[in-house]
Amino acid sequence: IPVAAFDAVVFGATGDLTMRKLLPALYYRFRDRQIPEDSRIIAAARSQLGTGEYRDLAAAALERHVPAADREPDTLTRFLDHLRYVAVDGAGEAGWQDLANLLAEHPDHVRPYYLATSPSLYGAICRNLSAHGLIGERSRVVLEKPIGHDLASARAINDQVGTVFPESQIFRIDHYLGKETVQNLLALRFANTIFERLWNADVIDHVQITVAETVGVEGRGGYYDTSGALRDMLQNHMLQLLCLLGMESPLSLDADAVRDEKLKVLRALKPIPAHEVPMRTVRGQYVAGAVNGQPVPGYAADLGEHRQSLTETFVALKLELMTPRWAGVPFYLRTGKRLPQKVSEIVVQFRSSPFSIFPDEFAREPNRLVIRLQPQEGIKLEVMTKEPGPGGMRLRATGLDISFEETFNQRYPDAYERLLMDVVRGNATLFMRRDEVEAAWAWADGLLNAWADRPEPPRPYPAGTWGPTAAIALIERDGRTWHEDLG
Ligand code: NAP
Repeated sequence: IPVAAFDAVVFGATGDLTMRKLLPALYYRFRDRQIPEDSRIIAAARSQLGTGEYRDLAAAALERHVPAADREPDTLTRFLDHLRYVAVDGAGEAGWQDLANLLAEHPDHVRPYYLATSPSLYGAICRNLSAHGLIGERSRVVLEKPIGHDLASARAINDQVGTVFPESQIFRIDHYLGKETVQNLLALRFANTIFERLWNADVIDHVQITVAETVGVEGRGGYYDTSGALRDMLQNHMLQLLCLLGMESPLSLDADAVRDEKLKVLRALKPIPAHEVPMRTVRGQYVAGAVNGQPVPGYAADLGEHRQSLTETFVALKLELMTPRWAGVPFYLRTGKRLPQKVSEIVVQFRSSPFSIFPDEFAREPNRLVIRLQPQEGIKLEVMTKEPGPGGMRLRATGLDISFEETFNQRYPDAYERLLMDVVRGNATLFMRRDEVEAAWAWADGLLNAWADRPEPPRPYPAGTWGPTAAIALIERDGRTWHEDLG
């Protein structure tokens, strides 16, 4: 279904995010006829380029980032026709009048302003948009992560943007929320009677969330080194997954109804007391090793000139939610760079049966629900079945397995495709509200402060392993193990 006609202004249009993610996402939506013909994508950055030169850059980016099978020459040409370029300094005066003139051609169009720039420019760009009279009822602003590096800086950004845009027009992107499987969490929980009734501390033993990357810092070391795994991945993406997994049923799919329930989860995160931080959290940093058989350097070498750093590239921790549904259920979260596999998954492990008619060796194998976000998005329920054959009652854990790609036999749209169209539609359900972002930071600040008060170097782990051994001890101390059938 086509969305309303729009003029999307992308600030930071010559940057990596625009070239790698935003332009391909818009191309796919255009190819699938979701973008009306009179819509425009107005690219803005400081570089002095003409529209023709920018289209060349965009064409090269699409060639790199869209598979050949999906690049239809005629469609590509028509898509590029929708691009305009304006040289604008977000922080200064240059170019704003040109932008205003261009936008004045379509006063009725929906106007998403996508801020794909450093967050340090968000305040200045918003002030300029307001000063040039470019904000109306059909305007929206899209903010990329990171929204701050702690609660105070997040509040400062939210204040700056909130001075010129009402909250209903602010769309804070967490691209994890645009992933099909993540949205499927809502379907799984609230459209199936079998799971929701089991979704509580009576039946669930614990939950694991793993987001593992094989890559290192990939030339983004400068940014990453000021951030680290907790800020870059756990405080935002992983806590958002935790929210969808742990929340109560919203009254509807209305944006605020969903976000109200997510907020309650964030506020129910039990602070980790400072004296428990060393036992309940593990910080790691990769050293040289091998990933998929290829030797790779350590983090210090990736930063350049073997610069020493105390930033964690791996974090594992144990969380609890103080709600009637979840009290006493541990949530184990781990994320890191240079791990053996690129995989994101949630594992809900059910309690083992207290009594079994089968020999002990089988009785202890619990049921697990594995929700795979990548690769091969899907859902697997691990159940015990009898091994076929006359060898007696031998049980084996097998999976009831739904691979979404095989089941629906269609291309899975990238998260940005869904999210960009939601911005045009004005549907904020999959975007973070200010109070959510701040509640997540308020919890993360507790940990960051505890780490800062007792600074210790992160534990080294060889690239290509599952993090420091202390991360294994973290869960094994409780008589549990990390789920192994990853991927
Ligand atoms: P980038 O490659 O460094 O690009 C920055 C862009 O901002 C360039 O187009 C640059 O162009 C423009 N810019 C810089 N100063 C400007 C100014 N004063 N006025 C207008 N434009 C200006 O950064 P990126 O990797 O694309 O990241 C952009 C944002 O997305 C950041 O907030 C980042 O944290 C976030 N993000 C990025 C990724 C990713 O995968 N790259 C993922 C998630 C979030 P000119 O120099 O020509 O002005």
